[in-house]
Amino acid sequence: MRNRARIEKLCPHIVVTMREQAPGRFGTPLTAGATRVMLLGSGELGKEVIIALQRLGVEVIAVDRYDNAPGHQVAHRAHTIDMSDPEALLRLVDAEKPHFVVPEIEAIATDALATVEERGVAVVVPTARATQLTMNREGIRRLAAEELGLPTSPYEFAESLEEVRAATGRIGFPCVIKPVMSSSGKGQSTMRAADDVEKAWDYALAGGRVNYGRVIVEGFVDFDYEITQLTVRAIGSDGEVGTFFCEPIGHLQDSGDYVESWQPQPMSDTALARSREVAEKVTSALGGRGIFGVELFVKGDDVYFSEVSPRPHDTGLVTLRTQRLSEFELHARAILGLPVDTTLTTPGASAVIYGKLDAAGIGFEGVADAMAVPETDLRLFGKPESFARRRMGVAVSTGPDVETARSRAREAASRVEPVA
Ligand code: AMP
Repeated sequence: MRNRARIEKLCPHIVVTMREQAPGRFGTPLTAGATRVMLLGSGELGKEVIIALQRLGVEVIAVDRYDNAPGHQVAHRAHTIDMSDPEALLRLVDAEKPHFVVPEIEAIATDALATVEERGVAVVVPTARATQLTMNREGIRRLAAEELGLPTSPYEFAESLEEVRAATGRIGFPCVIKPVMSSSGKGQSTMRAADDVEKAWDYALAGGRVNYGRVIVEGFVDFDYEITQLTVRAIGSDGEVGTFFCEPIGHLQDSGDYVESWQPQPMSDTALARSREVAEKVTSALGGRGIFGVELFVKGDDVYFSEVSPRPHDTGLVTLRTQRLSEFELHARAILGLPVDTTLTTPGASAVIYGKLDAAGIGFEGVADAMAVPETDLRLFGKPESFARRRMGVAVSTGPDVETARSRAREAASRVEPVA
C-alpha cells in the first residue's frame, strides 16, 4: 500500500470512468464497441488464454516484460513494460482502456491494480485483493491457516539466519525454506539437518523475486501425492457466482517446478471431498470470477492446503486435451460472465519440454517423431530465448488410462530436441 499515495500524486490524469462489469453483448474487435481484455503477463499460459478470448471475438492486449513473449505473438496489440512499476502499469491501462485486467504472473504492482479496481476503471480478475494476497506466500498462508482454519504444514516466517535456526528448532527436520516472494521453486530447498540451514538461507536470499529477505519455513509434508484442484468461480444458471470443480490433476515436481501432470488423479472419496471443501473455502475468500489452481498435498484421507494461483495453473496444461473446455477456455468464459462446463472427456497427461541450452532463437528437431506417438499433441511456446531449465514447450497425450497417457507424453517430450 505504500505506493498508493505516490501513484495518486503522480498520476492524477488516470481517468476514472465506470465501465460495465460484464458485457451483455460482444462487440467487434478493433472497433469502438469491442470487449477489451488486457493480460498482464503473456507467457505460455497467457498465450492460451488470449487464444481462447480471441475465439470469442474479444480484443486482447498482451503485456509482458520482454518483447515477443508467447502471448504477444497472438494478441491484437503487444506492450513491453515493467509490470512492477505502478506508474507504467496505470499509464498503459489508461491508454488501452480495457474492460478487464487479467494478471497472469505474480510480479505485478498490485497497488496499481487496487487503484484500477477502486476507481472502477476496469474489472481486475479475479480481484485486486486476490492478486495481492497470493503474490506473497505470507498473505495467502495466513489467510488459509489463520483466518479460514484450513489444514496446512506447520510454518513460521523468518528474516535472518538466527530466526531460521530458531524456526527449524520448533518445526523440526526435514523442513522446507522458501522466499515469501517467489514461485516455481526459486530459492526453495529442503533442510534435513542443522548443517543445511546456512546454505539454505543463502540460497533463499538469492532466489527471491525481490531482495526482501523474508522466508517461510514449512514442516515437510510426507504426502502420498499432490494435486492441483482447478476451481472455477463463474456465473451459474441462477445468475449468481458459483464454484465449479475440474477433476483433480496429479503432478510430479522437480526442484519445485512441474515436469509432468495427469488427469484424473485417482483419490478416495473422502480425500476428494476434503480437497474440494478446502478449494471452495479459499477461492470464496479470494472472490471474483475466474479459474484458480488450488495446490494440495494428500496423505491417506488427509488433505493439506499448500498454495493457490488466482489464474490458470501450469499443471493444468493437460486440460488442453482432457476437458471439453481447457482451463484457459474456462478462465475466458468465467472472466466474461459466461457459463462454464468442467466435464472431463478423457484421461490424459502432459510432459514438459525444457530448453536444455542457453541460447536465443533456438530450433526444435524431432517434432514429427514426437507427434507420431499415438494421441499426442505438442505446444511449442515460441519463447525468444531458451535457458537449460526454461519450459519451452509441452507434450499433451491422451489414452485409455492415465498410465498410458503419461508414458506417451513422456516419450513424445523426449523426442523433441532443442538445437542452437
Ligand atoms: P511451491 O512453490 O510452494 O508450490 O512448492 C513447489 C513444490 O515443492 C511443491 O509442489 C511440492 O512438491 C514441494 N513442497 C513445497 N512445500 C512442501 C512441504 N511443506 N512439504 C513437502 N513438499 C513441499
